[in-house]
Amino acid sequence: MEIKGKKVLVVGLGKSGLAAALFLRHQGAQVTVSDVRSADVLAKDIPALIDEGIAVEAGGHGLLTFRRQDLIVVSPGVPIDTPELVQVKKFGLPIIGEVELAAHYLRGHVLAITGSNGKTTTTSLCGEILKAAKLPTQVGGNIGVPVIALVEDSREDGWSVLEVSSFQLETTYEFHPEIAVILNITPDHLDRHGTFENYAAAKERIFARQTADDALVLNADDEAAKSAAARASSRIFWFSRAKVVRQGAFVHNGVIAFRASEQSAAEPVLKVEEIPLKGAHNVENVLAAVCAARLAGVDAETIRAAVMQFQAVEHRLEFVATIHGVEYYNDSKATNVDAAMKAIAAFPGGIHLILGGKDKNPDYRQMRALLTERVKAVYTIGAAADKIFTHIDGAVPIVTAGTLEEAVARAGAVAQAGEILKAACSSFDQFENYEHRGRVFKETVQARRGEKTLA
Ligand code: ADP
Repeated sequence: MEIKGKKVLVVGLGKSGLAAALFLRHQGAQVTVSDVRSADVLAKDIPALIDEGIAVEAGGHGLLTFRRQDLIVVSPGVPIDTPELVQVKKFGLPIIGEVELAAHYLRGHVLAITGSNGKTTTTSLCGEILKAAKLPTQVGGNIGVPVIALVEDSREDGWSVLEVSSFQLETTYEFHPEIAVILNITPDHLDRHGTFENYAAAKERIFARQTADDALVLNADDEAAKSAAARASSRIFWFSRAKVVRQGAFVHNGVIAFRASEQSAAEPVLKVEEIPLKGAHNVENVLAAVCAARLAGVDAETIRAAVMQFQAVEHRLEFVATIHGVEYYNDSKATNVDAAMKAIAAFPGGIHLILGGKDKNPDYRQMRALLTERVKAVYTIGAAADKIFTHIDGAVPIVTAGTLEEAVARAGAVAQAGEILKAACSSFDQFENYEHRGRVFKETVQARRGEKTLA
């Protein structure tokens, strides 16, 4: 892709937009950045861009700015039905995402992971396993470092382990991982993708460019992920918690095993009980990682040792503290109903659950049976509280707490021994993001130390 001297517009000045703008400029493009947020909000990034000779349009998008370009690089946070993008698309202007841009420059092997839930955990785990095998490895994408920022240090004999979201995949065309993983496809982000079909189609772009030389790792226990096999040209490897698979990773007699092909013998990798992460969903993440790592050439013993050392990523069913016999878990990253249900299912019962935030139009009714079975009380917070109440009323006692602090105080006061989790919605109504919400939760919990409980 020749971009020297080309006029390129980067839409959206998030982490990846910033990295893309700087990269393009260093490649000799004439770069403009456009963001709907005001110059005040963007103040911390603007001087560095101007210094680099990058033009900045803040506080809105100008259609003319869009029309003057040779290429548009759109950030994952910007909907592709933004009116200015729709307009210029009609004129045939290429519109790509930062992952697609990076794909043209990245050297070496790519292992890419997508799914509705479990991406960060599985991506981090794969990264750790490959590093343990002494393979030159970089980890990035929707986690930590944008893909474009990995380009400079990428090498022909190395691996880029990438977490890719549906928003990022929506704008990929040539992106071509040699190992692709789809963990699961359950309803999420329907506020932006419109329908489940659109959302699933975006995820399936992860293998759109794959050939029979590439591998696609799919969850045999997930209907939508499973059905993707019919549209793939790659070699399919399955992972399953429930059954033995022809080719891939599975659980048999409490042992995770890998089978390289239908003809080969199953090779034991590690015992399920050796996995240090909580919950059946994490067994799925480990199965996917075992499969991907074996395909990347890592031996079973190295995989086992790396999995056994792996700690939960922050905000993912992260243990916070035990106070007055009550265990507190931070699951702020569970920002959809399926993730929240998997987290609840990781505990036998006695759960005081904090639920709420800005909702993405999910159906909380599907939680009813599980709530009745395992949850003592739900404490609602944020904008989704009313809807949650309507959907789960009668299944479980509900306390309308309003804020996270109030919810922790109310739950902490009555919980005797058990767990407190927080989960299920995105966080943008009361917090900057899920990390912020998770940190506030942890600080609020820690502040309870020394306080007397009413129980
Ligand atoms: P993602 O990056 O896809 O959001 P994470 O690894 O950050 O996924 O995990 C987010 C939350 O999703 C976890 O806190 C847990 O509640 C839930 N989760 C993790 N793995 C899975 C899985 N394989 N299936 C369903 N839910 C999962």
